[in-house]
Amino acid sequence: MAVTFLGEAIAEGEAKVVRVPVCRLASGAELTIAVHVLRGDGDGPAVGIVSAHHGEELFTTELMRRLRGMLLESRFRGTVLMVPCANPPSFEAGTRNTPIDMHNLNRVFPGDDAGWLTDKIAAAIWQHFVPAIDLLMDYHCGGVDTEIHYTYTTDPATPIGRRIHDLAMLGSARVLWETPGPAGSLAREVARREIPTVILEVGGGPSFGTDLMDQGLEAARRILRKVGVLDGPIGPVGRRIVVRRGGALRPRHGGLFVPEVGHEALGNTVPGGTVLGRVLAPDTLEEIDLMRAPYPRTAIMMVRSRISKVHPGEYAYILGDEDSGGPA
Ligand SMILES: [Zn+2]
Repeated sequence: MAVTFLGEAIAEGEAKVVRVPVCRLASGAELTIAVHVLRGDGDGPAVGIVSAHHGEELFTTELMRRLRGMLLESRFRGTVLMVPCANPPSFEAGTRNTPIDMHNLNRVFPGDDAGWLTDKIAAAIWQHFVPAIDLLMDYHCGGVDTEIHYTYTTDPATPIGRRIHDLAMLGSARVLWETPGPAGSLAREVARREIPTVILEVGGGPSFGTDLMDQGLEAARRILRKVGVLDGPIGPVGRRIVVRRGGALRPRHGGLFVPEVGHEALGNTVPGGTVLGRVLAPDTLEEIDLMRAPYPRTAIMMVRSRISKVHPGEYAYILGDEDSGGPA
């Protein structure tokens, strides 16, 4: 049976790009959000997959391109609705936030079509894409100089919490971070509507050419098998740990960032006090910040793995306290 999205019928075995209108920009150009609607053969769930809420996260846009290619070569059931680039103005500018109003798209859901540009983008996604899905996979990653690998989870004490946790276990990362997540994020607001969600943090600019791309794709395959979109065994997943305490380690001062701990540490644990990186003044070359692992057993969830410029307060690392949780 065909499915209909925004008045467009998509027959079984067909794939179409349907554009969700947002508004006209000051240039006169029309801003739309492209949704790839891939209709499989036969009944099954409608799975929404989103990336690049944050425009510097192009690793996951490439991951979406590969995932789409894999699906189009497979037999699958149900419908997959993919948004490879949720925030086109921010992708164009290469900035985390939307350049025109400098708001963070992943903090303003469900949006407001009478609000700022970022609110309008969120409202377009919320009003047209969210009602069409039964499950959400939300991919995020690092930017040009950073890479990331963990999966968000929630307390499995409630039925929706259990479903979210079961999906998170199928993600690619060893570390699951149990946290309610920020208000206004798409995944949190969707989960409040009892739609299961999984937020997969995987990759970043320095991750191209590493196995993180394949790991991120394999996570999508496992989840799509779990919900019956793809056939085949889920296969074994490695050991997972849950952390309940964690957060970003941010440089107090800007300057030239020099990592001591990089890609190879991602997903691993280091002892408390380990030097992770330094900030040097670019003019005097003196060391002005020294960043150390804060927890006795510090899980490395995000690294700034390149020598790069940092501003004060930017992400340098995201770290978890391994003693705050336990085996998943
Ligand atoms: Zn993001």
